[in-house]
Amino acid sequence: MTNLQPVRGTHDLLPDDRRRHRHVENTAQKISELYGFDEMTTPIFEFTDVFARTLGDTSDIVTKEMYTFETKGGESVTLRPEGTAGVARAFISNGLAQHVPVKAFYKGPMFRHERPQKGRQRQFHQIGVELIGVEGPQADIEVIALGHHILKELGLLKSTVLEINSLGDVESRTAFRAVLTDYFQSHESDLSEDSRNRLVKNPLRILDSKDDGDRKVVAGAPDFAAYLNDDSKAFIDTVHQGLTDLGISFERNPKLVRGLDYYCHTAFEFTTSELGAQSAVLAGGRYDGLIEQMGGPSTPGVGWAAGIERLAMLAEDSPAKDRPISVVPVSPDLFARAQEMAQSLRNEGFFIEFSFTGNMKRRLKRADKSNARAALILGEDELKDDKVMLRDLDSGEQEAISLSAVVATLQTKYR
Ligand code: ATP
Ligand code: MG
Repeated sequence: MTNLQPVRGTHDLLPDDRRRHRHVENTAQKISELYGFDEMTTPIFEFTDVFARTLGDTSDIVTKEMYTFETKGGESVTLRPEGTAGVARAFISNGLAQHVPVKAFYKGPMFRHERPQKGRQRQFHQIGVELIGVEGPQADIEVIALGHHILKELGLLKSTVLEINSLGDVESRTAFRAVLTDYFQSHESDLSEDSRNRLVKNPLRILDSKDDGDRKVVAGAPDFAAYLNDDSKAFIDTVHQGLTDLGISFERNPKLVRGLDYYCHTAFEFTTSELGAQSAVLAGGRYDGLIEQMGGPSTPGVGWAAGIERLAMLAEDSPAKDRPISVVPVSPDLFARAQEMAQSLRNEGFFIEFSFTGNMKRRLKRADKSNARAALILGEDELKDDKVMLRDLDSGEQEAISLSAVVATLQTKYR
């Protein structure tokens, strides 16, 4: 017997789900275009190194969550867990360094092997943007403003808060790392096993831990802001000022680090309290070292990604389904005639519902069910006079109109 359950953590997107997702995607894409971000699409799988060597070997994604397999040709490939590494790879592969700044928008499925729960799937979907090739904080302001604009357009500013932190430059991070390591070492026995491992490899990541015991230790950890050097401080101050100037409110969160290793300077998340433990809705930051680390020219970048499932759950007003016009033959003899009419109206760009079986009553019932605005009823008597009945299904009013006037009448009344 075929197992008919979808694989754990994956979901079918039925038409209503798809409509909600599409609303998020289309809104995000439309707003992104206002900022000059054009869509690009990278493959949903890449050589494993693209992710493993960039996301960092202490990140949750690389240590636990990747879908990695060997191809028939013996190559190790991984279903993409996130979008930035693939875009960075494409930037290098396609020689886009000649075209900086590159402003890319993307959307599509991502794959992570984590414990499924509300707002957390193994195949999920993201929209995201990357602004590559700009060193200054204006780029950070621009991508945050773009994320904010999309959330505003989706009606989500009320349910989300923007949190920001600075991860500084390499010098600042090295200084902070030493202080942080001392602190965590003095609390080592209270840390989870994961975090004790991170202590050696990447103590910053402990700040991001979701383990309750870790969180208690993290609450007393030193504040990164105190260890930023002058350049790093000036950078994040400019970001703060720029957001304030644009009327975008935010909160400083000194514990925000982001899960991936390649971030520096600005790290930010729009979070919500409405999705339980899954609080991050749209998250990103600056990744100046990434492209060089992958073997490309030293190129700064900043971007974010947002979970479409989480956005769609928060956005209460998904757009209504379009309403069709129904074409209804009164008798079986007129079936072919009605289908012909349906076809010619579709050629004029109308959304026509045409059911395949049943008498007039059943067909009208179905028209109601499909929320049709009107029915064009084809009957012998009217057709003799080259007419057809047009019934408005909201008001119940109907009138006979001549066949030659159908297109014009539908156009004025229903478009
Ligand atoms: P979380 O803290 O919830 O695990 P994350 O830090 O792993 O999030 P990112 O890698 O920053 O998430 O991905 C950006 C966004 O993608 C998240 O803010 C979230 O909206 C969404 N997202 C991440 N993982 C999942 C998942 N497994 N299922 C659904 N959405 C997800
Ligand atoms: Mg995660």
